[in-house]
Amino acid sequence: ESLVRAAADEPERAAEAALRPRRLEEFVGQRVVRDQLSLVLQAALGRGRAPDHVLLSGPPGLGKTTLAMIIAAELGASLRVTSGPAIQHAGDLAAVLSSLEEGEVLFIDEIHRLARPAEELLYVAMEDFRVDVVVGKGAGASAIPLSLPPFTVVGATTRAGLLPAPLRDRFGFTGHLDFYADDELERVLVRSAGLLDVPLEAAAAAEIASRSRGTPRIANRLLRRVRDWAQVRGDGTLSLAAARSALDVYEVDVRGLDRLDRAVLDALCRRFGGGPVGLTTLAVAVGEEPETVETVAEPFLVREGLVGRTARGRVALPPAWEHLGLPVPAGSDT
Ligand code: ADP
Repeated sequence: ESLVRAAADEPERAAEAALRPRRLEEFVGQRVVRDQLSLVLQAALGRGRAPDHVLLSGPPGLGKTTLAMIIAAELGASLRVTSGPAIQHAGDLAAVLSSLEEGEVLFIDEIHRLARPAEELLYVAMEDFRVDVVVGKGAGASAIPLSLPPFTVVGATTRAGLLPAPLRDRFGFTGHLDFYADDELERVLVRSAGLLDVPLEAAAAAEIASRSRGTPRIANRLLRRVRDWAQVRGDGTLSLAAARSALDVYEVDVRGLDRLDRAVLDALCRRFGGGPVGLTTLAVAVGEEPETVETVAEPFLVREGLVGRTARGRVALPPAWEHLGLPVPAGSDT
């Protein structure tokens, strides 16, 4: 399993939770979303009402869950957490909704993966603060409308475009999180090193930041691996040399690409001659789900100008060939 995408096992989750900013002012970067959200929250607090529902979109690891927790904390409200895949039946969602207390924040991660019936139930609840509870089974079943206290849904999605319009329209505010700049990631790293109480040299922070794919989760994860290296093979100091050695061990290259990213580039260039190739074919070639390739690897490869998306499929751009040390074929820059 690659370091950048290591499954979030329990110790990993705990390590992440320990580094989460708790208040909006501690949240690094994303100035636009932070400002907008701050207005939404202050206005709601001023009126003494639950704020509009909030949708957060953007690639994994950019702070959507963290912001949901911050929203609840800033409102002084409690947070309930669920996710699209965790809700198998509309009834599961009805149970969660009907147990909500006034002003609570309901975080629904991966909201684009909600099943259709749950989705329909959700937007009625969001709009009318009502849920129809079905009692009984089969022909004798009946729906009893239950009114809900005011609450706020915070939805997170890696693909806002996938949300059906009726659901998307129920959100009063949508914040789009973008990849972080290197100097913002350095601030994340310095803050985390402080919390972990490890000596992080400025040059090492810059090196780790530049290999973190614009993603705080990855920056924090690499920081912990550099710390391991410094402890076991170094003198405990997170120096530039320690950072470089550790990142080499974990096969994170100078652009921050990991094994999956390189596999995608490699398949695109060597196997498909630079494309265009369809997403599914490409995913099969690297042994991954199309959704993983599309939501996890691709956004960064596209942003880095390595991969292009065309109507006919994915294409390798000149920097992709260069990164693999291959000659750039004529006409590959279209
Ligand atoms: P997402 O829900 O978008 O996948 P998370 O909110 O779980 O991402 O963030 C992943 C980790 O990155 C968190 O543990 C948090 O410590 C860190 N993180 C994310 N955004 C920020 C930020 N703006 N400032 C500081 N740390 C952040």
